[in-house]
Amino acid sequence: MPSKLSEEISPFYVMEVLERAKEIEAAGGSVIHFEVGMPDFSTPAVICEAAVRAIGEGDTRYTHSLGIRELREAISEDYRNTYGVKISPGNVIVTMGSSPALFLSLLALLDPGDEVIITDPHYACYPQLIKIAGGVPVTVRVYEDEGYQIDAARLRKAITPRTKAILINSPANPTGTVLSPDVMADIAGLGVFVVSDEIYHGLVYGGEAKTIFEFTDRAIAVNGFSKLYSMPGWRLGYLIVPDEFVRPVQKLQQNLFISPNPFVQKAGIAALRLGKAEALGMAGEFDRRRRAMLEGLRELGFVLGTEPLGAFYVFVNASGISPDSHALAFDILEKARVAVTPGIDFGRGGEGYLRFSYAASVSDIGEGMRRLGEYLNERKSESR
Ligand code: PMP
Repeated sequence: MPSKLSEEISPFYVMEVLERAKEIEAAGGSVIHFEVGMPDFSTPAVICEAAVRAIGEGDTRYTHSLGIRELREAISEDYRNTYGVKISPGNVIVTMGSSPALFLSLLALLDPGDEVIITDPHYACYPQLIKIAGGVPVTVRVYEDEGYQIDAARLRKAITPRTKAILINSPANPTGTVLSPDVMADIAGLGVFVVSDEIYHGLVYGGEAKTIFEFTDRAIAVNGFSKLYSMPGWRLGYLIVPDEFVRPVQKLQQNLFISPNPFVQKAGIAALRLGKAEALGMAGEFDRRRRAMLEGLRELGFVLGTEPLGAFYVFVNASGISPDSHALAFDILEKARVAVTPGIDFGRGGEGYLRFSYAASVSDIGEGMRRLGEYLNERKSESR
């Protein structure tokens, strides 16, 4: 029999939308993809070349369990250059994606029953990762009419003697919100350890994404190459931890993963040292798509209470069409051939919403909006 944990874990619904969309495509249908949280750009050539070169040179063995020194140095330089914070390479641990980095952070932090505060809505996998690590997720609502900023007073009320950490994500999935520096300072000021998921840093179109280390040292930052460098399939990420966490995370990594991939780490060095300008160019393209999608959604009559300024998502209130986001997302997929993610994937606070990813070309955004317009007209005429 499978374990209770594996039986009870929630699926990542976006993957189920994607899998159904792929079935439709395999049967000859065309689907516009706004569901996946994945850049559609190719990885910049300079990054690919570094990996190919490394493989050619036979760089295919395990590396140091903390990652190769040069990459850890490049990451610490990147944090210094971008935010002006001093991070020792000794505090950087390289992982196979930011998902393992998040998991390692939680495993290193949590004793059974410890609580971790997250927002609601939140990135879909957070509650599951906390539970697998033995912890208890506690949610604090964030609201569209407050720009999805975290309210420190509401956060303070959620703190109990079992609170071990607050897990924040700015720019955020699914809301696209960039936390204001004041809110980050308030959070750091609560005195609770912070885990900061900084995976969408660099994809910011207004406001400024700050690293948690500009506010406190009692924190772990999690980051990776999937988004900004368009490297989701490479599986490369890292965490930056205080001194006392280096050895515990190292032991966990040795047992769980042994080491990150050698040639992928070489690609990571190339990304940071040679690929940043191209990556930021892709961020500029995301901004153009963001504006196209916002305009399209507004033309269809959706009301956006706040403008997303980061990542590549628009979180849209669709409760006027249907209060059941799961049923609505699958209905839109079946009838309009547009794949979107149901808001319920991101917590109860996301129910009634749909997440549109603009990691799609401007022409796909146009076509998706046209199909959605037809779908909405049809729905209206059916209800008459
Ligand atoms: N955190 C957030 C908020 C994300 O949206 C994602 C990917 N969708 C991840 C972490 C994981 O990214 P990866 O493991 O590819 O680095």
